[in-house]
Amino acid sequence: MITQVGDRTSRWTADPGFGVYLHIPFCRHRCHYCDFNTYEGQEGLHLAYVDALITDIGNCDPGGRRATSIFFGGGTPTLLPASGLARILRAVAHNVGLDPGAEVTVEANPETVDEAKFDALLEAGFNRVSIGIQSLVPEVLTRLGRTHSPERALEAVGAARRAGFEEVNADLMYGSPWESTSDWMTSLEGVVAAGPDHISAYALTVEEGTPLHTLVASGRAPDVDPDIQAERHELASEVLSAAAYERYEVSNWALPGHASRHNVLYWSAGDYLGLGAGAHGHRSGRRYWNEKLPREFVSRVSAQRSTESGSELLDAGTRAGEAMMLGLRLASGVQLDEFTRRYGPEWLDGRAAVLAQLEAGGFLERSEGWLRLSAGSTLVANDVLCRLL
Ligand code: SF4
Repeated sequence: MITQVGDRTSRWTADPGFGVYLHIPFCRHRCHYCDFNTYEGQEGLHLAYVDALITDIGNCDPGGRRATSIFFGGGTPTLLPASGLARILRAVAHNVGLDPGAEVTVEANPETVDEAKFDALLEAGFNRVSIGIQSLVPEVLTRLGRTHSPERALEAVGAARRAGFEEVNADLMYGSPWESTSDWMTSLEGVVAAGPDHISAYALTVEEGTPLHTLVASGRAPDVDPDIQAERHELASEVLSAAAYERYEVSNWALPGHASRHNVLYWSAGDYLGLGAGAHGHRSGRRYWNEKLPREFVSRVSAQRSTESGSELLDAGTRAGEAMMLGLRLASGVQLDEFTRRYGPEWLDGRAAVLAQLEAGGFLERSEGWLRLSAGSTLVANDVLCRLL
């Protein structure tokens, strides 16, 4: 069964729909740079986790809204059998409901998928796959702690296509201390040749608590160089735009018509349910997060206790500021009349002076009612956005 993803926009929208994020907190092996909520060696817990997640989905209240996008992230969701993922998706369809044309994405790592698994995922109703590739250079992959080869990564893209996935994302990572410019070109050109319709490329960050951080802090590995990372980002823009990919967000490129609905929902500050261990959700100015440890998550569900471990109410100014920070990451920028309708005029009025400075400095530009980062400012996006807050 192939379900098509409905009409999408790559632009900021005041009506981005309703998302569901499901966290699968397991990986076969932890990459050296990873600080996500994921655990290796918990295979004995996988089935109990699936059951607990399904029960928790049955307990959640979607408030009468149907999902326009669903994202199974991790972790490595495809470490679970396709039948387990199918059961979870059926529970979402039953308890939340799917909008016709809903985008249903599963994250996959190359060593956990083949054509038969992709067949089963399509049959279950998934219509988009996001494959973690990161690099196509063996030494870079090894240094990052990735356990797949470049060939296996490219084979995963091919297998997804042969199975019938029309929406395939490839995740890349640039700027590790062991990567040369020519390595990065190898990764970019190899991925483009494999033909995904969406490519995400993020700079490596050295997060505290990771093995990579220990190596860097002890001087056994060089730190990342922000100038080199900026060059790599520029190179990605050149190579990908020459191959007809449009950059619709600071770190995301897609062929026309293939932007991710779920991504655009996040950057348009839409509402979404967060389900599973450590997942975060956001509903109308209330942000919440769940118990992080998978075993404790399962225990809470068994004991009929809430899986939520914390929440906060965002005041109007915080909501408006966060929405602007997210929206300006999109190449479209933010439609100011719609922004004002959604959040009121106070936030923009209170920042008129700094906005004027950033526009005069060439960091922001305004045209036909849209405010966006100027083309040359994506590399300093975080600095520009921080000045606005
Ligand atoms: S596969 Fe992804 S989630 Fe798992 S350890 Fe590596 S980076 Fe983290």
